[in-house]
Amino acid sequence: MGIPLASAARLAPLEGRAPTVTTVCSHSSLQIFHGARAEGLPTIGIAVGRPPRFYDAFPRGRPDRFLTVDHVSGVPALADRLREAGAVIVPHGSFVEYLGAEAFAKLEVPVFGNRAVLAWESDRRKEREWLESAGVEMPARYEEASQVDGPVIVKYYGAKGGKGFYLAKNREALADFRPTGPYVIQEYVLGTRYYVHFFYSPISDRGYRVGHGSLELLGMDRRDEANIDELYKLGAQEELLRAGIRPTFVVTGNVPVVLRESLLEKTFEVAARIVERSIELFGGMVGPFCVEGIMTEDLRFKVFEISTRIVAGTNLYISGSPYSDLVEPGLSTGRRIAQEIVRAQAQGRLSEVLS
Ligand code: AMP
Repeated sequence: MGIPLASAARLAPLEGRAPTVTTVCSHSSLQIFHGARAEGLPTIGIAVGRPPRFYDAFPRGRPDRFLTVDHVSGVPALADRLREAGAVIVPHGSFVEYLGAEAFAKLEVPVFGNRAVLAWESDRRKEREWLESAGVEMPARYEEASQVDGPVIVKYYGAKGGKGFYLAKNREALADFRPTGPYVIQEYVLGTRYYVHFFYSPISDRGYRVGHGSLELLGMDRRDEANIDELYKLGAQEELLRAGIRPTFVVTGNVPVVLRESLLEKTFEVAARIVERSIELFGGMVGPFCVEGIMTEDLRFKVFEISTRIVAGTNLYISGSPYSDLVEPGLSTGRRIAQEIVRAQAQGRLSEVLS
């Protein structure tokens, strides 16, 4: 038996019934609903304003029914109705960001995964403490501009939606930086970005064993980021700045990638260490997470971020990925979430995957 995350009282509404997979209509929700349906679970979509019209175009991804709120902040007020419906909330990036980590953590409805992870992920300093204490290599952090000895990315606290960054080629260029709020200076890692989609199951006893459970690799993507991805076409940074053009990293889409097979081992080791440390720190990260890093030319993988829930890049693989197909044909992350709920319930272990 693993670590219980949810109390019996929280799980009481799920007794003797198929849990209803519930999420906010956005981000990766079509995939989540599609995966739940494939595993025979009912679904509820929480729509902000009204149900998105384009969902009508995707009958296999549309939820069974909708609940509507004026704003995401109205979700906690739906708690009674959601409990009555036997809901299990599946968090995704937009859901947590719009509702706020604090309000999300307090939701009085069962949530898939360990909600204690939010406190560690939503604060960049705590996230670094977690990853570094797990022995994961991260981009160097400079306390003072005078220590800088190469290209840097300056990140404002709470930089959101890909905005709030400043790039400098070297210490001299950093001298032009005029901060408008608290920030951190980080080594700008030159290499290739990979966003690696993992799934940790604390209740599985086969495969790549970590903790009491096992780690699966379900996919990988790279993000299209505007305007940085195309900025090079316009020429040198200094000139761009003089022209008032500042780099941003606004995600506009995702592209599929695969790693050289020989690099997979390193990636699994990094993810395994992150999971093992999460078990020691807060009872473990459960379900999908994404390790976001840069592979350098000397094949070091420097992790700049971890997302502790389903990421939108998994939408590439609704009918399977080059990795998940080696686990089970046609397996998406959304479907894997539904499987975990079904399996945990069948084994009487829902308290280990819900919180
Ligand atoms: P973040 O908000 O930390 O996810 O960063 C947003 C984007 O900035 C990432 O998707 C990367 O493209 C880029 N980025 C972040 N940190 C670094 C770094 N240390 N070196 C190079 N690029 C980075």
